[in-house]
Amino acid sequence: MIIVVKNNPDKKQMDNLVKWIKGLGLDIHMSRGDNTTIMGLVGDTSVVDEDLLRSLDIVESVKRIQEPFKNANRKFHPEDTVVDVGGHKFGGGHFQFIAGPCSVESEEQLITVAKAVKAAGATILRGGAYKPRTSPYAFQGLKEEGLRLLSVAKKETGMPVCTEIVDIRCLDLYEDVDIIQVGARNMQNFELLKELGRTKKPILLKRGLAATIEEWLMSAEYIMSEGNTDIILCERGIRTFEPYTRNTLDLSAIPVLKELTHLPVLVDPSHASGHARLVLPLSLAAVGAGAEGLEIEVHNDPPHALSDGAQSLRPEQFDDLVRRVDVMLPVVGKERDR
Ligand code: PEP
Ligand code: MN
Repeated sequence: MIIVVKNNPDKKQMDNLVKWIKGLGLDIHMSRGDNTTIMGLVGDTSVVDEDLLRSLDIVESVKRIQEPFKNANRKFHPEDTVVDVGGHKFGGGHFQFIAGPCSVESEEQLITVAKAVKAAGATILRGGAYKPRTSPYAFQGLKEEGLRLLSVAKKETGMPVCTEIVDIRCLDLYEDVDIIQVGARNMQNFELLKELGRTKKPILLKRGLAATIEEWLMSAEYIMSEGNTDIILCERGIRTFEPYTRNTLDLSAIPVLKELTHLPVLVDPSHASGHARLVLPLSLAAVGAGAEGLEIEVHNDPPHALSDGAQSLRPEQFDDLVRRVDVMLPVVGKERDR
C-alpha cells in the first residue's frame, strides 16, 4: 500500500501517522522528494482501514498494491484448489453439473428429477429446502422435510446433494448434505460465513445480487479465515439496468476470477437469465469463458413448479444441453466427471 502525503505535512501529524502504522505491525519505506513524501507500507496491509487513512488531513491519496484477500489469492497459492464433493472433483480441469429443482416439492418430484439429471450427466443433485424468497407470501420451501427428502434421493440415486442454508441455527440439520449453498442474498451474512468456516463441508458461495468481485472474494475469505478452504464460487448474474433478463450474467467475472483466485468457479445460468430458453446459450458462453461447472435448475413439470418454473429446464432439455457442452469441453481443456 502506498500513501502519498500532502506537501509540507505538519510534523506532529506525520509522527502520529508513522506511529499508528507501526502500531499495526507494518514497516514503512519512506521516500522524501522535494515536494512530496511517499510512504510504502510493508507487511500485511489487510489490517489497514484505507478510508480512515484517506480521511487524514495530511494524506493526499492512498493506493492499495496488494488485494485485501489472502487465503483466496492465487498469488499465494498458484495451483488450482480442487474441491472434492462426495468423490466428485471441482477445479483443476474437472467439469461438473449440479442439477435439480429450484425447490424440493415432494418425494416423487425430487426422485424423478434426480434420476433424470443423473442419467443426463449431472453428478450433484441440487434442491432448495429452505428458500430465501423475495416475498414472504411465496413458497418458503419444505424446510426440514425438504432436507429429509434430499437424503432419501441421495440414498436412492447415490448422488451427493447441494442445498442452501438460510439460517445458521439450522446447521445441525445439514449433516447429510454434501455441499452447502450460500445464496446470493446471504453472500454478505458474515456471521453465517464465519460459522460455515468452522465446518468441514464444501461451500458453494454464490455472488451477491450487486456484489463486486472483490466483495465476493472477501466473503470467501470470511469462510477461509476460519479454516474451511473447500469453497466453490458461483456466478449467478448481477443486478444491472437491464430488465429483459432476471439478472445480467457477468461472463467476464469468470476469467477475472481465474486470475485472482485458485478457487473453482461455476456458473448458474438459470438465475442469471430467468428464462429456460436462455439457459443453453448462456451455458455454452460460460463454458467458453472458462467455467468449471454449471448449476442448472431442472423440473419435471416446470409450469407447475412451486418456484422458478420459468427458468427451469425439462429433463430432455437438460440432456440436450449436456451433450452440447460435451462438444465444447475438449476445446477449453476440461473433462466432465462421469
Ligand atoms: C437458488 O439456487 O435457488 C437460489 C435462490 O439462487 P440465488 O441465491 O443465486 O438467487
Ligand atoms: Mn431458484
